[in-house]
Amino acid sequence: LVVLGIETSCDDTAAAVVRGNGEILSQVVSSQGDLLAQYGGVAPKMAEEAHSQVIDQVVQEALDKANLTARNLSAVAVTIGPGLSLCLRVGVRKARKIAGSFNVPIVGIHHMEAHALVARLSERQLQFPFMALLISGGHNLLILAHDLGHYIQLGTTIDDAIGEAYDKTAKWLGLDMRTGGGPALEELAREGDAESVRFSTPMKQHRDCNFSYAGLKTQVRLAIESKNINAEIPISSASSQDRRSRADIAASFQQVAVLHLEERCDRAIEWARKIEPSIKHLVVSGGVASNQYVRARLDHVVKKNSLQLVCPPPKLCTDNGAMVAWTGIEHFCMGRFDPPPPADEPEDYMYDLRPRWPLGEEYAEGRSEAR
Ligand code: ATP
Ligand code: FE
Repeated sequence: LVVLGIETSCDDTAAAVVRGNGEILSQVVSSQGDLLAQYGGVAPKMAEEAHSQVIDQVVQEALDKANLTARNLSAVAVTIGPGLSLCLRVGVRKARKIAGSFNVPIVGIHHMEAHALVARLSERQLQFPFMALLISGGHNLLILAHDLGHYIQLGTTIDDAIGEAYDKTAKWLGLDMRTGGGPALEELAREGDAESVRFSTPMKQHRDCNFSYAGLKTQVRLAIESKNINAEIPISSASSQDRRSRADIAASFQQVAVLHLEERCDRAIEWARKIEPSIKHLVVSGGVASNQYVRARLDHVVKKNSLQLVCPPPKLCTDNGAMVAWTGIEHFCMGRFDPPPPADEPEDYMYDLRPRWPLGEEYAEGRSEAR
C-alpha cells in the first residue's frame, strides 16, 4: 500500500509518499515565507497563485524521491478542508488529475484530523481512544478521539488561535517572519524575563475548555506601544536595551499564552476521563507544537495527570504531506475512499471543498460542567 498525500489548505504546498506500514518514502514542502513576510499574513489570491506555480513540481519531487511513478500509487489523499477554498482547490485539482489519469481512488482529508492522526504515524503504538490538543495558525482544538472518524470536541477558540498570537507578536517585535513568527519568537523569548511584564491569563472566569487569544494580543500590543518598540526597526538592528525589552515581552507573552493551554488541558483531561476513563495519551500537534517550551510545559501537565504526552517531530507538526497521506491510509484501510474521477474531468469542476468543517461533535455536557 502506497499513498501520495497533497496539502494546500493554507500557505504551504506540501506532498509526501507514505507506505501502509508507516514508512515515509518522501516529504516535500514549499513555503510561502517571503510572501508572508511581505504581506504580514496570507492573502488568498496570492497564496493560490503561489500554490499553482509550485504544485506540479512539489508532487513530482515527492514521487521522484520515493522512486515511484503515479502508476504505483494505491490512492491519492488530499486535504479538502478546512482552509482557504482558493488554495484547497489547487491541491484537489492536482490530486484528481493524477487519480483520474492513473485510475486510483481518492481520499478527501480533514486538515485537523491529519494534524491529530499523524501522531499514530510517529508513534506506531498509539491506540484509540486518546486526547489531542491541536495548536496551529488557525485552530486551537481540544478533542477526544474515540476512534477513526469519531471525535468529540471538548474545546475550541472563541476568537484567535495561539499561532496567530505568536505571529502577530513576532511581527510587532520586528522579528523575521519568513519562517513564520513562531520559531523566531521562541528563540527571542529564551533571552527574556518572563516575569517582567504582567499579562493576564485569558478566560480565567470561564470554567470550560475553550480558548481566547484576542485579548492577550491586545495586551501585548499595548505593552509594545508603551515601551516605544518600533517594528520597522528589525530586531537585528535594535540597541541592546531595545532588544532586551523585546525579549522580555516575548518571554512574558509566551509564558501566559502557554499557561492558558496548560489550564485548559488540565480541565479537558478531567472531562475526557468522564467520557472515556481509559485514555492514556495526550497528543499535541499542529505548528505551535514544534515549540520546545510548549512541549516542556505540557509534558508537565500530562505527567501530573498520569498520562503520556505524544508530540510528533517538528516536521510532522507543521503542515506537511505525510500527515495527509497517513490519514488517507487510515481511511483507505477502513474502506473509506472515493472511486477514481473520470480522466477527462474539466478543471472548473465543482469539487467537494469544505472551507469550514468542524471536527466531530461538540461535547454537549461541557456547558453544564462549566457552571
Ligand atoms: P491550521 O492548521 O490551523 O489550518 P496552518 O496550517 O497555517 O493553520 P500550521 O502549519 O499547522 O498552521 O502551523 C503554523 C503556525 O505554527 C504558525 O502560526 C507558526 O507561527 C506556528 N509555529 C511554528 N513553529 C512554531 C514555534 N516554534 N513556536 C510557536 N509557534 C510556532
Ligand atoms: Fe495546519
